[in-house]
Amino acid sequence: MKLKEMPYVRVEYEAFKKDFEVILDQFSSAQSFNDAKDAHKKYYEITEELSTSITLASIFQSIDTTDPFYEKEQGYYDEMGPLFDELNSRYNNAFLDSKFRDNFEKEVMGSLPIKNMMIDKKAFDEKIIPELQEINALSTKYQKLLASAKIDFRGEELNLPMLGKYMQDLDRDTRVEAFTKRTEFFMNNKEELDTIYDDLVRIRTRAAQKLGYENFIELGYYIMGRNCYDKDMVKNFRDQVKKYLVPLATRLYEEKRVRLGFERLTFMDEPINFTNGNPKPIGTPEEIFENGKKMYAQLSPETKEFFEFMLDNELFDVLSKKGKAGGGYCTEIDKYKSPFVFANFNGTSGDIDVLTHECGHAFEAYLARNMEVKEHKRIGMETAEVHSMSMEFFTESWMELFFKDRKDDYLYMHLVDAILFIPYGCMVDEFQHIVYEQPELTPAQRKEVWKKLESEYKPHLDYDGDPFFGEGGTWQRQAHIYEVPFYYIDYCLAQICALQFKVLKDRDFNEAWSKYLQFTKSAGINDFTTTLKQAGLKSPFEDGCVEFVVNGLEEYLK
Ligand code: ZN
Repeated sequence: MKLKEMPYVRVEYEAFKKDFEVILDQFSSAQSFNDAKDAHKKYYEITEELSTSITLASIFQSIDTTDPFYEKEQGYYDEMGPLFDELNSRYNNAFLDSKFRDNFEKEVMGSLPIKNMMIDKKAFDEKIIPELQEINALSTKYQKLLASAKIDFRGEELNLPMLGKYMQDLDRDTRVEAFTKRTEFFMNNKEELDTIYDDLVRIRTRAAQKLGYENFIELGYYIMGRNCYDKDMVKNFRDQVKKYLVPLATRLYEEKRVRLGFERLTFMDEPINFTNGNPKPIGTPEEIFENGKKMYAQLSPETKEFFEFMLDNELFDVLSKKGKAGGGYCTEIDKYKSPFVFANFNGTSGDIDVLTHECGHAFEAYLARNMEVKEHKRIGMETAEVHSMSMEFFTESWMELFFKDRKDDYLYMHLVDAILFIPYGCMVDEFQHIVYEQPELTPAQRKEVWKKLESEYKPHLDYDGDPFFGEGGTWQRQAHIYEVPFYYIDYCLAQICALQFKVLKDRDFNEAWSKYLQFTKSAGINDFTTTLKQAGLKSPFEDGCVEFVVNGLEEYLK
């Protein structure tokens, strides 16, 4: 079914609750496993109606933010969200208490879904609702503070994302001016940024201690749904990055400095890759999609079927339009078993990421669309990003379709960006471990921690005396640190797996692709590390993983 033909119906909370409680009661009082299975099937159906309605409201609202109808619908779900969640958590608990739990585990879904439910239970308790509300309010305050930026730049009034365009300008004077304006904004809001974060750390620590945890780290891991790795394993990954990847990254920065002909490479020059600018895709959006179709048809029978399904059902909305929300995402409309990709084409290489990265997510959703055990559709963020980031590499051979004679520049830039991201992401992660382990640190001490980490992860950094970013303030523009603690390492874990797929693909495309298919099809049935192992990949938590990737890439980078 085409997206525009999918009927939207609001799910009213009161009516839903009544039906839901009947099912909950049926499940809890089931006398046989068959009765419990029947009730669980009904639970699937009713939650599918709800999630479909929520997703459609949010899609239609993002396509046209000026439509008052969907604005109201979206507002309804924002407001009622916690109430729907509460019902779900009651079902979750009933499931864990069910006398048929073992039957479900053995005969239906395996152990992972049950483990996930137990983690959900550890992550939430009514006791911490006041803290959760305070955290939400502070996160919103942070978002609003950053969104409030009105920067006067050469007579134009810009917000931070708009200023970002000038921070990547080929002309150095323009860049310096844009960076200076950004620094001014952060200097003016320095105290508020410190206070908001200080409050967040304090409140999160209080919530964790109310639940009996020593500090927020353990609770943070439960909230992120971590089901197969802990903080020590993550530390082992970061240590490998420091040992093997940081030296490579430092070399790549130095090569960039030489390539650009600079005496010094400051943080203001980092966004620039080539003296003639970054490669841009060639052709109209229609031509780009025509080429996308060609690419996925040649890549594999599965991707051909997938991409044609997306086109036939008009499941892309990628052109920038007035009133459309910013950014991009991929989501899934449960009832119609359809992925949906949203983006705002702007003529940069980011448009091609929509066809590779977002389509990687959509391809996974497409492969999983007929899974009968709905619990198996739940995958960790790190796993989801492996699907998308790896697709960026599997499609490398078709980049000539989009970049013509600058194909090689694009491939180099894409690979180098992927490598350089990892030390930064690990730094964000280590910073948060230190902060939550020592919640008593002052804002000034936190900035000292960041500066020290920068010297380990990005030793080449030259802030050119910047009074905000040069003084340990860079993390304050990273929204994840304020809003979703410990959600960032996911990108690094996924990136190292994606790079592993690249190394394997360069050696033997077909073998690597079949490993990727296996990894993608079994995500959700088993946890991240098990799925990696089954697909024959190295786990990022095991010694040798980062070294393998770095050695493999050396070949290519030469
Ligand atoms: Zn993604």
